[in-house]
Amino acid sequence: MNLQELKETSPYPVDLDCAVSLYLGASGRFSPVLERIEISKAGTPAEKFSVLSHEIGHANCHKNGCHCTKKVQSCRGEFHAFKAGLLGCIGYKEALQFTVLTIIECAAGEIGESHHIRAAKRIMMTQFWAEACLGV
Ligand SMILES: [Zn+2]
Ligand SMILES: [Zn+2]
Repeated sequence: MNLQELKETSPYPVDLDCAVSLYLGASGRFSPVLERIEISKAGTPAEKFSVLSHEIGHANCHKNGCHCTKKVQSCRGEFHAFKAGLLGCIGYKEALQFTVLTIIECAAGEIGESHHIRAAKRIMMTQFWAEACLGV
């Protein structure tokens, strides 16, 4: 799957060339108010693919009324998005590498907010993280 094909799986509109930096350290976001995904134009196609996989995870949680969306800055919400990011990138080595690296940096506290950091640490304890790392 390439970036355009991934974009077509999103339940909401996607802007892949967002001009402004979204907020500190983040290269993508899903707005539940606007029901729209914005991805920073900075970044390679593989990086955008990785970020979009994560944001589609948030978008699907919102669309499906997942329990994680009941709370703002939800650790569980980030866990679901990290999981979607890893699964979405299996089969696209450069994107999977970027996803794995992002989660490692996040777990180390180098990027992200506290709910991202907790979720990153949590996902690294799953079997499914180990399986994703085998593909890297
Ligand atoms: Zn969820
Ligand atoms: Zn997220």
